[in-house]
Amino acid sequence: MMDAHIKKRMKEIGGGKAVLFDVPMSQYTTLRIGGNVEALYKARDLNALSEMTTFLRDEGIPYLVTGRGSNLLVRDGGLKGVAIILEGSFAVVNNTSMAEPCIVAWAGMPLYKLVDFCIENGLSGAEFLAGIPGTVGGGVAMNAGSWGKEIKGVINEVTILTGRGIVEKRDSSMLKFTYRGLELNTGEIILNAVLNLKFDRPALIRTKVVANIKRRKERFPFDMPSAGSIFKNPRGDYAGRLIEAVGLKGKTIGGAMISAKHANVIVNKDKASSSDILALMDLAAGKVREMFNIQLSPEIKVVGEM
Ligand SMILES: Cc1cc2nc3c(=O)[nH]c(=O)nc-3n(C[C@H](O)[C@H](O)[C@H](O)COP(=O)(O)OP(=O)(O)OC[C@H]3O[C@@H](n4cnc5c(N)ncnc54)[C@H](O)[C@@H]3O)c2cc1C
Repeated sequence: MMDAHIKKRMKEIGGGKAVLFDVPMSQYTTLRIGGNVEALYKARDLNALSEMTTFLRDEGIPYLVTGRGSNLLVRDGGLKGVAIILEGSFAVVNNTSMAEPCIVAWAGMPLYKLVDFCIENGLSGAEFLAGIPGTVGGGVAMNAGSWGKEIKGVINEVTILTGRGIVEKRDSSMLKFTYRGLELNTGEIILNAVLNLKFDRPALIRTKVVANIKRRKERFPFDMPSAGSIFKNPRGDYAGRLIEAVGLKGKTIGGAMISAKHANVIVNKDKASSSDILALMDLAAGKVREMFNIQLSPEIKVVGEM
């Protein structure tokens, strides 16, 4: 429990309106599920963020950076500590120079805005991110990708706020990306990423983006809340194919349903709880293990208390 002194100090550091207490995480996840977080901090500049994380670390209070919550399942019992959302100066994108096809994309920037910026400025290479409903920070942390491409392929350098409050630049050779992940130490926050793109005609880039979004709409259920793919694809196969093969397409538990359109997506059909989602995940993983001897591992991040 956060005592009055801690709450007061957080308000002083963050600024009155930037810190909220006892906030439903269902408002901050695309699944629209999740109990309350003890505190939510909307960080707008580096000095305050650095001071806040130092304070939280010294007080032993955990924090979780949340992008658009598009890969997050927060359990119904809520989240201890602080959810940090990066806004303001953390949600912009700049050209490093007009002569180079290089940009600095800040972590709080939604990926769709990054893609729009690339179209407007004739920068090609990030079209595969079109339609992924996350932020730059979430995209880098998850090594987001589609159509055979991953964000690591366009990253030159990432700037990180370490758990000790130091701003550190890491070039691509120092970054340990995995399939849908990036190895970070506890407390590390991605601040921005330098993307290396190519100059091309805006109209051509727009055509590719439009085509990618169309393909995406054909495959994914966008009509109900979800967190995209629930499981990682096992080597040489597809989680969706396996879940469909065990006959679970359209299966419901409580208010959650394995999508009838894409079996690797669980949708919040009707006021689902996190337990409904977890029960469907257990069922799918169990059946796939039984029938194919393949262990599915979650792509989504499950956080919070039971
Ligand atoms: C309909 C739909 C379609 C999707 N399609 C795809 C797809 O094609 N490809 C794909 O890869 N993903 C896809 N996703 C999943 C999701 O959009 C991506 O993983 C996205 O990159 C997550 O970004 P986010 O900002 O929402 O991160 P969140 O879900 O908020 O967070 C995800 C993780 O990243 C961490 N994180 C976020 N920001 C930071 C930061 N600044 N510093 C350190 N850690 C951070 C969080 O702590 C958490 O562990 C889809 C999701 C949905 C709902």
